[in-house]
Amino acid sequence: MSERPVVTRFAPSPTGYLHIGGARTALFNWLYARGRDGTFLLRIEDTDRARSTPEATQAILDGLGWLGLDWDGEAISQFDRADRHAEVARQMLAAGTAYKCFATPDEIEAFREAARAEGRSTLFRSPWRDVPEVDHPDAPYAIRVKAPRAGETVIDDVVQGRVTIRNDQLDDMIVLRSDGTPVYMLAVVVDDHDMGVTHVIRGDDHLNNAARQMLVYHAMGWDVPVWAHIPLIHGEDGKKLSKRHGALGIEEWRAMGYPAAALRNYLARLGWSHGDDEFFTDAQALEWFDITGIRKAPARLDRKKLDSLSAQHIAAMDDASLVAEIDDFLAATAQPRLSAAQRDGLERAMYCLKDRARAFPELIEKGQFILTERPVTADEAAARALDPVSRRILSQLTPHLQSASWTREALEGILTREAEANGMKFGALAAPLRAALAGRTATPSVYDMMLVLGQDETIARLEDAGRV
Ligand code: GLU
Repeated sequence: MSERPVVTRFAPSPTGYLHIGGARTALFNWLYARGRDGTFLLRIEDTDRARSTPEATQAILDGLGWLGLDWDGEAISQFDRADRHAEVARQMLAAGTAYKCFATPDEIEAFREAARAEGRSTLFRSPWRDVPEVDHPDAPYAIRVKAPRAGETVIDDVVQGRVTIRNDQLDDMIVLRSDGTPVYMLAVVVDDHDMGVTHVIRGDDHLNNAARQMLVYHAMGWDVPVWAHIPLIHGEDGKKLSKRHGALGIEEWRAMGYPAAALRNYLARLGWSHGDDEFFTDAQALEWFDITGIRKAPARLDRKKLDSLSAQHIAAMDDASLVAEIDDFLAATAQPRLSAAQRDGLERAMYCLKDRARAFPELIEKGQFILTERPVTADEAAARALDPVSRRILSQLTPHLQSASWTREALEGILTREAEANGMKFGALAAPLRAALAGRTATPSVYDMMLVLGQDETIARLEDAGRV
C-alpha cells in the first residue's frame, strides 16, 4: 500500500435525509482519516438536478455536524465541477482512450432489439469505436470510453476480497453525453482523483460501479484508490433496511435523545469490531479503527445494544457536558431551553439522575424535581399518595427539618423516626415525599432530592403539600 497520507471522503447524494447507513459510511471514513493524521473530505453528489434539494444537503450537513464528523475544507459540490469532468472526457478522446459515438437513441434501441431476438448480449457495441476522425459526420456525438473487450477487470477490495469482472460484460460506457453533460460515473472518478482520495470506503451497493469506474482510471492512467465496499445494514429482523425497518434519518435518532458519542460508538460497531469491545471512547475508536476489522456479512440494527451503549456513555460523561447536550437536545426537538437556574440545578442533580438512564428524556423526566418550580403540581399517579393522612405527616415533619443539619445521615434519622412515630415503614412515607418534592413517582431517592434541593426549598415544598 502507498505511503501517501490518507485522504478519505464521504460523498452523499442530497436526495433525502442522512440515514443510518450513510452516517456509518461517513463515520468509517472519518475514523480512518482522523486516526491516521489524514484528511477527511465531503463531496455533495448533486449532479442529479431533479432529485437533489438544498434541504437534503442541509440535513446532511446538520446530521454530520451533530455527530461530530467534521470535514476538512469546504464541502465540494459535484455539479459545480461539471466543466472539469467534461474536460477529462475530452482528454480521454485526445489520448485515444475514448471515442466519439454518433449512434442515435433509435439506433441503440434497434441494436438491442436485434441482440435480444438473436439471443446475444444486449450490451451496446458502438460501430464508431474504430472509425477514424476523417469519416465522422458533422452530427452530435457522445464520448464513450474504449473499454477492453478481452480479459478481466480486477477489483482488489479490502473488505470483499478480489472481485473479478469479465471485460466482455462491460460496455463502452458513455462519459460525456451528446448534450455535453458528463455522466455521474465519470464525475465520481475525476473528483476522487482531483481530491487526492486514497481510500474509497462506501456501501457495497457501489461495488458494480467500481468496475466501470476502473475504466476511467485506466483510461487516464491514474492511481486506483484502495477500495473498501462495506456491507449494508439490515433491520433487526435481518431484512434489508427500509423505512419500515427503522431506516430513520439521523435527526430522528437525535430526537430520541441519544448522545452523539453513543451513536458514534454504536455506528462504529455496526459491521466493524475490535475484539470483544462494545463500549469505547472516540479516542479508542480512532486508535483501533481499521478497514481490516470490517466484516463481510451485513450488520444488523440492535436497539437494545444502542440503549446499553448509550447508558454507558451517559454514565461516563461529565455532568456539565451532559447538561449542555440536554440543552442542545431540547433545542433540536423544539422544546423550551433550560434557564441558567435549571442548568445549574440539573448539573448538581446529575449524579443521582444518570444511573442507568438510556437517553436524555429519561434524565429530564427523573430531573423534573429540580427543573420544576414551586408550587409543584403532582401528576395523577403521584397525587394519589397525597391523602389527608400523608399531608398531616408532611406538615409534622417540617419543624424537625428546620433544625436539622442537612446531611444524608441526619435526614435518614429524621425520616425514619417520623415514620416509626406514625406506625409506618419509611417506604410508606416515600411516596408522599416524592409527590411533594417532585410531583412524580419516578424520581431519584428522597434523600438525594432533599440534598439537591437544599433545606429551604425542601421545607417550602413540604409545606405547600401539607397545606390542605
Ligand atoms: N453518492 C453515492 C451515494 O450517496 C456515493 C458514491 C460514492 O461513495 O462513490 O450512495
